[in-house]
Amino acid sequence: MSSIAKNLQHVQHQIAVAAERARRAPSSVQLLAVSKTFGADAVLEAVQAGQTAFGENYLQEALDKMAALAAQAPDARLQWHFIGPIQSNKTRPIAAHFDWVHSVDREKIARRLSEQRPPELGPLNICLQVNISGEDSKSGLAPQESPAVAAEVARLPHLKLRGLMAIPEPTDDVARQHAAFAAARGLYDALRAGGLELDTLSMGMSADLEAAVAEGASIVRVGSAIFGARHYA
Ligand SMILES: *Cc1c(COP(=O)(O)O)cnc(C)c1O
Repeated sequence: MSSIAKNLQHVQHQIAVAAERARRAPSSVQLLAVSKTFGADAVLEAVQAGQTAFGENYLQEALDKMAALAAQAPDARLQWHFIGPIQSNKTRPIAAHFDWVHSVDREKIARRLSEQRPPELGPLNICLQVNISGEDSKSGLAPQESPAVAAEVARLPHLKLRGLMAIPEPTDDVARQHAAFAAARGLYDALRAGGLELDTLSMGMSADLEAAVAEGASIVRVGSAIFGARHYA
């Protein structure tokens, strides 16, 4: 078995254990393999091990990988999720080539993605990125502005608002990991209570996925625990 296949198996096991501990079905947590900075060969190994959903941060790199995978694994039905910061001049190719975007943090970007989504592809799945830890340097909506933005985004015709994405401040302190993810969960529950039909809470990475699953993550975004250490970005 390749090391990527072994790592995938290990991460799936971690997810299953964390889910069972939280009395959740392991199948209620989807693993998004974050392949940024790794080549198409690494993605192909993951595909051969059964992984179908991939997260990418850099547009051109992602488009190159999609083309390589379409040639090398034409029968694989892959799902591509854009999870990086979005410049407004990049929305058109993102809308045309991705299945999901997790990193929408302003209405203007959502409106452009909706306008530029080719209608024949069906709605683009969207998560709003929220800045749960309140760090100045991080992108993401402030929690207090998210209800109004979510209501606007939910109305856009070529998008489907699925939920929230959060990247809390990194910490080894497990109690603080739980507190940040619980705050994201609270905001998600409040939006649902307000009438939005959401089903996705995208949170948890290699270092904190167990806490995220315990607090209700439905997608965990895992890179280095699958593909190894990144040498840049
Ligand atoms: C890189 C990245 C990840 C994966 O991080 P790891 O620590 O390698 O698991 C997840 N989410 C986002 C938004 C990222 O940019």
